[in-house]
Amino acid sequence: MAKKINLIDDPDINNLVRGIVGETGIPIVSHLFKIQKADEFEIAKKLKEDVNFIRSIMYKMYTNNLVNYTRRRDAEKGWYIYTWEFAPKKLFNSLIASRQKELEGLFKKVEEEKSMEQIFTCPTCSINLDFNKSLELNFTCFACGGMLQPLNNDLIINGLNQDIKCLSNNICVLKEKLNEI
Ligand SMILES: [Zn+2]
Repeated sequence: MAKKINLIDDPDINNLVRGIVGETGIPIVSHLFKIQKADEFEIAKKLKEDVNFIRSIMYKMYTNNLVNYTRRRDAEKGWYIYTWEFAPKKLFNSLIASRQKELEGLFKKVEEEKSMEQIFTCPTCSINLDFNKSLELNFTCFACGGMLQPLNNDLIINGLNQDIKCLSNNICVLKEKLNEI
């Protein structure tokens, strides 16, 4: 838990947090990541920000399960003071979940590419025709009479497979990080 690296420096986490609290919220979240737990008045004082602004940022984090809070009543003033605590497991879990969703999308794309109806093309005229039309034409181009060639989508599939590999590795790294918490 007492890791010295600030999670906000991780580009994936930075993007995720930025999407939730916006650019102006980043320094506040970064601060909480460093100190793990603090009441909102401490944070406001330290960062010279309005306490309501701190609270609004923390609520956004809370609704995304990235922080927890406890609150106590200030006996003198009668209002509530919230103590916010960073919840890193949820951060990693949501990041992993979104990555896995992305991965599923890539797998689906590969399947779509593989199951795509075979297209034939004339390399000279750059005309694409579906299988039935090509069969009708006896696989000769109606424009130049040249042989139609099957259009290869291997390049697209290879590219997708590369993306799948990268993303899978990324998920592994995130899972390792999660286990280190
Ligand atoms: Zn042709």
